[in-house]
Amino acid sequence: MDLPEQVIFVIERIHAAGGQAWLVGGSVRDMLLGRPVQDYDIATTLRPDSIEGLFPDLRPYTAGKRFGTVSVLINGTTIEITTLRGEDSYTDSRHPDRVYFISDIESDLARRDFTINAIAYDPLAQYGIVDPFMGRHDLAARVIRTVGDPRERLEEDPLRMLRAIRLAAQLGFDIDKCTWQAIKRLHPLLDKVAFERIRDELSKLLLSPCLAAGFDHLTSTGAINMIFPRPGRADLSPGQAGIISGIDPVLTVRLAALCFYLYPGKSDIEIMDMLKSLRFSRAEAKDAASLIRGFKALLTYDPEPYNIRKLLSIIGQKDMSSLIVWYAEAARAHNSRRMSDRYSKIRQMYEEILQNRDPVSLKDLAITGRDIINAGIGKHKPEEVGEALRTAHDWVLHNPKLNSRDKLLEELLRIYSH
Ligand code: ATP
Ligand code: MG
Repeated sequence: MDLPEQVIFVIERIHAAGGQAWLVGGSVRDMLLGRPVQDYDIATTLRPDSIEGLFPDLRPYTAGKRFGTVSVLINGTTIEITTLRGEDSYTDSRHPDRVYFISDIESDLARRDFTINAIAYDPLAQYGIVDPFMGRHDLAARVIRTVGDPRERLEEDPLRMLRAIRLAAQLGFDIDKCTWQAIKRLHPLLDKVAFERIRDELSKLLLSPCLAAGFDHLTSTGAINMIFPRPGRADLSPGQAGIISGIDPVLTVRLAALCFYLYPGKSDIEIMDMLKSLRFSRAEAKDAASLIRGFKALLTYDPEPYNIRKLLSIIGQKDMSSLIVWYAEAARAHNSRRMSDRYSKIRQMYEEILQNRDPVSLKDLAITGRDIINAGIGKHKPEEVGEALRTAHDWVLHNPKLNSRDKLLEELLRIYSH
């Protein structure tokens, strides 16, 4: 297996200091699958203090030291080095409540969530793979299976239920039958898990290649009701799941679509508040709400250039393109002639607007507030400056040809006395 030299460098230095070191977790899993590796985690027999002392030249990052983790950054690659540990319960934090350090790798692997995440690899050893739970077997069979008894392991940290579903959707794997049944039975325990942890898994899930399968697991196990509580419990239909999986892989866009289908009766403001309470950032919640507003507009407004320009001026080109893809997916899922006709119209108008470089945003307007003031508008009523600017903007959204400084000022002066 090909490893970056930074990883070899770290492992060699640990060996030189008399310690043992293995790559563990997602990096081993992804290497064995031939997938790109996101981050390298190393497990070691040395204690955090020794690790910190071993890399003084790299100014190690020690915020996770209490949990046994010291990180180093080498040429842009972050490597987390964690002392072998066993651990107790997770309750509601992101980290286990207590950790204790141990010295054998197999016990460290035993506390990990799934067999495919519980393989260790020492690239410097003769035969460096440590795989006590047959993780390679499950990788080949493409199955997510807990290490040990699923009920025990999911009770211990209920977030693992969402991790199983997320990993299955990310890798295109099945969930082992016993593990799946335990999720179905234990999903109510998800209400003990911190929202931040749920949010992180949900975010990764929403960007997974096999998202439709992920939604299927979420609804068939009932786990979705623990993330998005709904009194009526109308579930996501397979058609809706298909729409969300077909749209742009952008977190806020998929989040918006998911909420739109789960909460048909809720306003975009209510959805924004709900997303904030799920610990999404203010910016993400706001963007999702504006996408929902925009999608509702696409569904209901007459497909005419003014409306498309206006929507574009409000939400910007990136989100507008995503909305149009969303609309296309919805038209396809509903198999609706009316929607696909509308889609063609909207799409064509949108492309023309972009091609002609029609002025859409206030920034594109040929006049500024300064020009309006200089023309003498608002001398007695200052609020008229903003009002005139919005009026001019609206004219130009109706007719892009009007976007010249002289024409706009002339028309404005006809309305506003000075
Ligand atoms: P990703 O590719 O998304 O980073 P990952 O498997 O690396 O996936 P991380 O959250 O980075 O996931 O965790 C690293 C490793 O730590 C996992 O592979 C697993 O061995 C272990 N792990 C993470 N979370 C848990 C948990 N909740 N319970 C038990 N082990 C866990
Ligand atoms: Mg990882």
